[in-house]
Amino acid sequence: MRRISAQYVITNDRPVLRRAVVSAEDDGTITGIMENDGLLTEKQSVEFYNGIIIPGFVNCHCHLELSHLKGEIPEGAGLPEFIMNIRNRRDRNEGDPAVMKKAVMQMADEGIVLCGDICNNASAFSTKENSNIAWHSFIEVFGIDPARAEKRIAEAGQTAEEAGKYGFSYSVTPHSLYSVSLPLLRLLKEYTSENRVTSVHFMESESEKQFLRDNTGSLKESYERSGLLTDDIMTPAGHAEGILDEITLSGNLILVHNTFTDAATVKKVLQRKNTWWCLCPGSNLYVEGRMPPVDMLISEGCELVLGTDSLASNKNLSILSEMKLISEYFPAVRLEEMIRWATLNGARALDKENIFGKIASGMKPGLLLLENADLLNMKLLPETTVKRLL
Ligand SMILES: [Zn+2]
Repeated sequence: MRRISAQYVITNDRPVLRRAVVSAEDDGTITGIMENDGLLTEKQSVEFYNGIIIPGFVNCHCHLELSHLKGEIPEGAGLPEFIMNIRNRRDRNEGDPAVMKKAVMQMADEGIVLCGDICNNASAFSTKENSNIAWHSFIEVFGIDPARAEKRIAEAGQTAEEAGKYGFSYSVTPHSLYSVSLPLLRLLKEYTSENRVTSVHFMESESEKQFLRDNTGSLKESYERSGLLTDDIMTPAGHAEGILDEITLSGNLILVHNTFTDAATVKKVLQRKNTWWCLCPGSNLYVEGRMPPVDMLISEGCELVLGTDSLASNKNLSILSEMKLISEYFPAVRLEEMIRWATLNGARALDKENIFGKIASGMKPGLLLLENADLLNMKLLPETTVKRLL
């Protein structure tokens, strides 16, 4: 049994507590919280830290299998170029267990306890099985050639079967509205009609809006150069229509990126219940050189979660780094609110809120310590670090 306290404790279950003591079993299960009205009398059995205790971080969007592409793809080239680079380079060293293991260790060091991970194949499965992070694996499907739609579903089914053998929590999911042909989207909608969680890359670039509008632009050119373009391109007519009409209505939906979204689209998409908006600012700055419109998403009432994306488009896999970027560009966002996106909301979006996201009796959320933050103003500083206590 451990008793742990700090200047502040953010539980996501009660107001911010001063010097409360969290009790936990050695396996991380929380057994109780003692509020002290800020008056902690020194006791030998209590570990006291100068910082903020929070639940473990939830990373809602990563591609572990792309870890070997760290530093390989030029920054700022835009999404069509980025996708082409991934296509050309992903096979080299893909699935190198040593590289993926290192990425998992980095995530764990950065306090990530649960991760939604995109899989285009089974190459990351054994690394995930042997890690100290919990996962939800999204078996991702893409393909703009309508003639191959059936084949793509069959391939995803095989990978899903493999995930089942490992006993993983998983769901099949479409990559995006611009990379999945309409016939394939419709087969997938049927196939995923009982999904508990679905994840879709959403409005990451201006070029995908143009591609959906009239099948032209730099995304089309990128498909052309890769020899993927067919005569019969079939895509949804727009982003909101695509989400509402062509994606399963079952369970939670995580929309990833949202960098180029606008209030009108958001208002329409919000007709779908249980939609979560995932911010990956590090990746957005890397690929498109642009931040997502965090203030607009907040004012429209979107439920936000955070993701790191992969090492192909980010310098590290750290939720704290993503939070620092948000505070830098949107200083009005309160730290407590951002922590909620990074913990409780992520756990809810990935359908794991019975274990993660809250410091409360019976939960096993992981316990983190934020150090070197500005405790007076409750702000992150460039030198703020995170340490895992439990
Ligand atoms: Zn992604």
